[in-house]
Amino acid sequence: MIHPLRYFDDPVLRKQSEPVEKITDEIKQLVADLIETCAHHNGAGLSACQIGICLRIFILHNYLPLPDGTWALSAPLVFINPKILSASQEVESDSEGCLSIPHFREWVERPIKLTIEALNLKGERFVEVFEGRTEIERLNARVRFHENDHLNGVLFIDRLPPKVRKRIEPQLRLINTNYRK
Ligand SMILES: [Zn+2]
Repeated sequence: MIHPLRYFDDPVLRKQSEPVEKITDEIKQLVADLIETCAHHNGAGLSACQIGICLRIFILHNYLPLPDGTWALSAPLVFINPKILSASQEVESDSEGCLSIPHFREWVERPIKLTIEALNLKGERFVEVFEGRTEIERLNARVRFHENDHLNGVLFIDRLPPKVRKRIEPQLRLINTNYRK
């Protein structure tokens, strides 16, 4: 089922999401809904709070490099109760967007390396390591940082320098007017 998205100044996006205690049929349905809703909006990732459910779950698609230099999106991956185990001090800036802040992109600094663990839909723990060696690898780490932030009530616009944040304020207000019901 495709759920309505929550937009950027919705208080639900500012909540600390709760850990998933058991992977029930309801959780499985929620994950299926997240995948469907993300695909409907052509997103790379979506967290549960973006459809108003404050549980520590997100789904995302990896960027896969193609021989012609472009990329494709992988099948969806599921992260339940994710935990960032390590992140590099070294950061880089890249353009980022968010389905909760439609048609808006800004340059955001993120660590280039990441180690993250989570549970999959079967409840099995997995660990991923991103060494930041290629642009695609750094991009895939970036999506995880972005989605993980959502579980802690953080939006990418919070990571912008105060001056930039101030400059984009009118655009953000416009999103508010256009998307808020
Ligand atoms: Zn987002």
